[in-house]
Amino acid sequence: MLTGNDTLRLIPHPKAVNQAISTKNLDAGSLILSTPSIAAVLLATQKSRRCDACFRLPADGTSLRRCTGCGSYWYCDVDCQTKQWHAHHKRICKNYTKFTASPAFQSLQVHEKTDSLLLSHLLAHLSLLPTPYAPEDSSPLSILLSLLPSPVPDVSIPPVCPISPAPLPDLVRILYTRFGNNNFAIHSHLTTIGHGVFPLASRLFNHSCVPNAAARYSLSPSHGVGMEVVAIRDIPSGEQICIPYLDPAMTQSRHQIFELTYGFRCDCSSCLYIRSLGTLPELPTEPTELDDLGRQLREFVGIKDALLLAPTLPTKSLESTPSSLHAVFHEAYMSSLSETFSRCSHDGEYDIALDTGITLLALYILIYPSNYPQIGMHLLELAKTQSNAGIVSPNLSTAEKRSRVREQTRVYLSLACFILQIYGPEGDDVGPLQEIKILEDLLIEEVAVDT
Ligand SMILES: [Zn+2]
Ligand SMILES: [Zn+2]
Ligand SMILES: [Zn+2]
Repeated sequence: MLTGNDTLRLIPHPKAVNQAISTKNLDAGSLILSTPSIAAVLLATQKSRRCDACFRLPADGTSLRRCTGCGSYWYCDVDCQTKQWHAHHKRICKNYTKFTASPAFQSLQVHEKTDSLLLSHLLAHLSLLPTPYAPEDSSPLSILLSLLPSPVPDVSIPPVCPISPAPLPDLVRILYTRFGNNNFAIHSHLTTIGHGVFPLASRLFNHSCVPNAAARYSLSPSHGVGMEVVAIRDIPSGEQICIPYLDPAMTQSRHQIFELTYGFRCDCSSCLYIRSLGTLPELPTEPTELDDLGRQLREFVGIKDALLLAPTLPTKSLESTPSSLHAVFHEAYMSSLSETFSRCSHDGEYDIALDTGITLLALYILIYPSNYPQIGMHLLELAKTQSNAGIVSPNLSTAEKRSRVREQTRVYLSLACFILQIYGPEGDDVGPLQEIKILEDLLIEEVAVDT
């Protein structure tokens, strides 16, 4: 059975190849599928910081061991190195340095370099399989070949690291045309660290901008980099399971990316609605007008100042957004809120940071589906900012005021914890869930000091 588990069933879809349907009621947080990558590559910025085989950071007090052949691959230990050597590196090691120094490689854009190395890993891996060109029906290669090719005619193939025996040019083309639109950003704690090809996930799950499931990544010395698809809300039996191929916050650019890179038009409820709005009203440029837009947004979503009292986040349907707020769907609006929030939190301008952070939270609630992991991460950032603001504020002379700051911090933390527990732990060992626990313990200590 292609799905490899009893949670999913594949049935025909009117527009896509198939759709994966849940065969039972799934609770939020349920693991739907766990699948290995057929090829993966670290981002250039992570090179030498992480193990090239399992993508983990070195354990405290240890350093990575470097491949003595090429000097360009790093590993946790001899186990990770041996696994990767047999998986693909022995075909690449000798030529890697010359290839990556070549003008053909050096002239590529950053994302093209990632694609070139990912394709090189994949070709080297396939060349080491016992019967490379006659895969079984359920093998990852066979599944990869069954995916729809890129819609771009004459897509230009990046140069690949020379391997011996050289792969057939046809194979390179066939693989690459199934590649760009079927490769996933691999993250740890929701920060991208690499890219990988997960054919089974591509084969099973269609995209939605309001998905009911999301992908997280496991980095394991014994199993390498794996993808785990988890339900982010309760999913009734018979519902199609979808994951986001792109960040749903790309409210404007995503339409074009779907068409050009993926060859489909997304008809999820969010895309139908945003397309129906046509040209969005201009974003105001005056700071006071922008503040006013933010205030109206918070009021509409219902988190104005009442967050402290709310044990759960409000929900708001996108379609009920009044026309006076349509300008918030400009991608530039979210980027500018994000940028201001990060900058002011970092620089200690806590009043502005918190005000902007709450507006950003309202926008996330409107655009993302419930329990979307990015909402949880943002709530954790809000908790940290609120806690830092409490430490430095000159007005918190009384125990009562300090207690109010702690209460607000605690609300952010518990909302963050609720969402991030559904998503589950991802990537490196110590992540946001541990950070939440540490901050909660600190709050308890502060109460003890104050009373
Ligand atoms: Zn490793
Ligand atoms: Zn090497
Ligand atoms: Zn959509």
